[in-house]
Amino acid sequence: MTDWLDASPGGRARNGVPAEEFEELVRRMLAGLGEDPDRDGLLKTPERVEKSLRWLTRGYELSVQDVVGDAIFDEGHHNMVIVKDIEMYSLCEHHLLPFFGKVHVAYIPDGKIVGLSKLPRVVEVFARRLQVQERLTEQVAQALMEVLRPQGVAVVIEAAHLCMMMRGVEKQNSRTVTSAMKGVFLEDLRTREEFLRLLRVNSVLG
Ligand SMILES: [Zn+2]
Repeated sequence: MTDWLDASPGGRARNGVPAEEFEELVRRMLAGLGEDPDRDGLLKTPERVEKSLRWLTRGYELSVQDVVGDAIFDEGHHNMVIVKDIEMYSLCEHHLLPFFGKVHVAYIPDGKIVGLSKLPRVVEVFARRLQVQERLTEQVAQALMEVLRPQGVAVVIEAAHLCMMMRGVEKQNSRTVTSAMKGVFLEDLRTREEFLRLLRVNSVLG
């Protein structure tokens, strides 16, 4: 197993610093920006930032095994299963700014299916970390390959990146689309095309 899946059933402990130490770092960052960390509006900011960043990166403490639990069932179904429009919020590891959008996941079972409500939770495990969209896409696909051993997995993510939008690097409405195809989705053009066609139903991809 790859190391990001190698989490114990209880998830993994983080090697972070204590909350007070983290808050002090945020105070110094505020001062570094030329702000006065002691003014009224900023007094509680270090505490809030510490809590919010830990929550936004709680995926480090989660494992796929945790969130899937025992919701894997033996089933002879061999047709494509698609869950579209899974909401996703993550933080880009280059700027610590949000990127967010929709995740579309498909798989073709090979004897095992997973409870559909678990797919968004698998996305959470990896989205709630510092990420790049390409790796997030690959990790979700790879995790499902390892957990379900299906005939194939396809993951498409469409996202808007605040680091591009707010910094004026690109125009406001650009979206980044990434995909990861595994197994039959990679090997069989017709399967891949069926998936992409089903994604366009309800004009998900425009
Ligand atoms: Zn960025």
